[in-house]
Amino acid sequence: TTWHVLGAGSLGSLWAVRLARVGLPVTLILRDPARLAAYRASGGLTLVEQGQEQHIAIPAQTVDAAEPISRLLVACKAYDAQSAVARLAPRLAENAELILLQNGLGSQDAVATLVPKARCLFASSTEGAFRDGDWRVVFAGHGFTWLGDLAHPQPPYWLDDLLLAGIPHEWQTQILTRLWRKLALNCAINPLTVLYGCRNGGLRDHHCEVATLCGELTELLEHCGQPAAAQDLHNEVTRVIQATGANYSSMYQDVAHGRRTEISYLLGYACEAAKRHHLNLPHLNQLRNRLIAHLAVHGLPGT
Ligand code: NAP
Repeated sequence: TTWHVLGAGSLGSLWAVRLARVGLPVTLILRDPARLAAYRASGGLTLVEQGQEQHIAIPAQTVDAAEPISRLLVACKAYDAQSAVARLAPRLAENAELILLQNGLGSQDAVATLVPKARCLFASSTEGAFRDGDWRVVFAGHGFTWLGDLAHPQPPYWLDDLLLAGIPHEWQTQILTRLWRKLALNCAINPLTVLYGCRNGGLRDHHCEVATLCGELTELLEHCGQPAAAQDLHNEVTRVIQATGANYSSMYQDVAHGRRTEISYLLGYACEAAKRHHLNLPHLNQLRNRLIAHLAVHGLPGT
């Protein structure tokens, strides 16, 4: 079965190159004929790994190609996932499988609702990659990807492809717990790094504020039926701030580069979930309002 990869950005290219270089069939799906022409002119994707460049010509097509899709890796941003998958829905084969790599929560359900007959697997990844040019991706941080399916506990047979491709992964029956935990860590760290214009380690100077947010996030997780994701949250946040002290958070980097953030699927999702549960979390809401105002100053959307 061909791996159709939607979105040749950082994570999409990282997966596509690793799958293709061990001989697995991969096809990139690009947004329009202009992007396809630009890709073809460049001759393929380049992966930079520990200073070594690897160039590989992976076949590509646009969203509007006719070929049916059985396995789709959705590797665009959370805010593009729904519209991108909607355009591909007519091409999905019976029993198609989608792997959703989006950060945060909210986009996965939106996609799953669009394609009720397809199997949707949710993924959560700690791998790090960024683009240092068009069709070039730098593999910056080794990590792990957890995959799971809320509806079926049994793993798909194609996990063998990931093994062959050397993509570190694990099947996770509690994938929602992992996604919620990551979302909570993100809410406690990323927005503050944007507001204070600091590296993760800079939040050591704001430990009271971090602790207050962790208290509210813990309450939220417990109300959302995610007690396991709530466990010891503040300690882990403190640990992450220490361990990644020299790093700039992904949201900080998005704002610094003038890129739209995934706020609606992170802090925004948390605030909406609190509202649904009639939970009053004043600091979390205030953080969201401050962040939206800050983004507006930088000409960036608050959604
Ligand atoms: P990215 O580098 O911005 O790549 C997204 C890609 O999707 C772009 O190449 C974009 O095309 C493409 N795209 C958007 N809409 C499309 C459409 N309708 N049809 C075809 N292609 C479309 O983003 P990323 O960093 O890989 O992030 C993807 C997701 O993974 C995000 O939710 C992110 O939070 C998550 N994540 C990323 C990392 C990381 O290290 N990068 C780590 C963990 C999780 P154009 O090139 O034409 O704009």
